[in-house]
Amino acid sequence: MATRKDILLKNGRVIVHGVDDTAKAILADVLVQGNKITQIEPHIAAPAGADVDLIDCTDKLVAPGFVDTHRHMYTIALRGRHGDDMLNDYLVRGILQSSNYEPNDIFWGQLAGSLECINAGTTTVVDHSHLNYGKEYPKAAIAATIASGLRSIYGYCFNIRVDSWHPFSLNPSFIAPWALENLQMIAQQRPLGDGRVTLGIAFDGWFLPKEILKPLFDKIRSLGIKHLTTHNSPSPPGVPTAVETMEAVGVLTPLSILAHANRLSQGDVALIKRCKAKVSSTPSLELQMAMGVPACFDETRDVQACSSLGIDCHNATLASIPAEMRMALQSSRGTFNDRILEKGKVPARVYKSVQEVYALGTISGARAIGMEDQIGSLAVGKTADIIVLDAVSPNMICGAQYDPVTAIVMHSTPADVVTTIIDGVVRKRNGRLEPVHVTPELRSWTRPQSTLLYWEDVIKEVLKSRDALQDKLDKIDYPTAKKAAMQAFGMDESIVVDVPPTSRL
Ligand SMILES: [Zn+2]
Repeated sequence: MATRKDILLKNGRVIVHGVDDTAKAILADVLVQGNKITQIEPHIAAPAGADVDLIDCTDKLVAPGFVDTHRHMYTIALRGRHGDDMLNDYLVRGILQSSNYEPNDIFWGQLAGSLECINAGTTTVVDHSHLNYGKEYPKAAIAATIASGLRSIYGYCFNIRVDSWHPFSLNPSFIAPWALENLQMIAQQRPLGDGRVTLGIAFDGWFLPKEILKPLFDKIRSLGIKHLTTHNSPSPPGVPTAVETMEAVGVLTPLSILAHANRLSQGDVALIKRCKAKVSSTPSLELQMAMGVPACFDETRDVQACSSLGIDCHNATLASIPAEMRMALQSSRGTFNDRILEKGKVPARVYKSVQEVYALGTISGARAIGMEDQIGSLAVGKTADIIVLDAVSPNMICGAQYDPVTAIVMHSTPADVVTTIIDGVVRKRNGRLEPVHVTPELRSWTRPQSTLLYWEDVIKEVLKSRDALQDKLDKIDYPTAKKAAMQAFGMDESIVVDVPPTSRL
């Protein structure tokens, strides 16, 4: 087990949020006792007699850990192949490749993905775990998440499953016969990781009839599961939207997160606001895969107040919340500016601010999972999910001294996160990930003699898993599978147009 001592962060510039969500830096020390922040003030003396982990934060920023409200945590082995994918390519080359994973692959992928979060200063993730082909899969994913030390809402997924690649066919039963029983079994094992991992649901089957959806979610509610994450995109004309169906089934709640939610109808916007549901924008993927402008700053939809940020696919993009902050900010500014330039005018001021986007990646993310009184900002009494950034690195120097929040949003990279603390435990220190403690639950995946897993150990297993997956991927006839998958998912091929960039539709 990872040990927890009192932690005293000395002489840092500590970023605190105000009541209006704006953040500012104060010169202070931060004392962590157990898993809580117990003092934030200058010149804190170490508690007498306590064994204190003293961390010198001179020339450092001390900030809340980032909250990522939409990610698929296990897909690291597929990295490198999606940079030029559109959504229908990614469906086959990414999402459905879960069928080629063994439980061992999800364990190592999930562990590497969780460590990647910690390395980048992301301390909480909403994990849409769309790799559920049997009871060993969620078990492996949850074990890896717990072991890593990450805070997570683990979205147990009812996902579409590939039966065969040659010829391509999907399993006709969207809700697998064993899926609910398996969920029940996991629910009985709570608390997961001392309560650091919360069981939620990941679900995209809103096309199913209400006669199936209603009893399914009644059962889920009876298990005490409150968090729900789902992908959201516009429905074809005449078809009820997913938001409408969710509302009708009674699952559009303040703990429901709609990932993407680009191009929402005004009716859906009104429903989301009325039910206080949440939105997770994942700008990099949405911009690449033609989903529309990020909803969080879409001036025509007005859902910023319930928005937060996510990475989505760490196999396709840099898994850094500040990188997504920049993408959200600059892309929405580009869209806004262009609209005014088209009229021969020039905007008088910049669209959206650094402060607004910083809130999306911190306190708004905490609100999306109902944990704003515990995480998402630094305050006495809150849980100690804290990161320390180097204020004098080549990226950050001068910016961090002038405006620490701007430095984090506009200049920081995962390399600038030198320390990550989650639930009062140091998980990254002096720029290096701490080793993972091998508990008895991990024995079925790790070597018998291991007691600690270092990143160097994880690398070997992840690369082995990648090679095994690649062998299977090489055998797939992608053009045929893509055509069949688009048909199976009801994607209308007739609206896919191949237009050279300089021409008009
Ligand atoms: Zn997603």
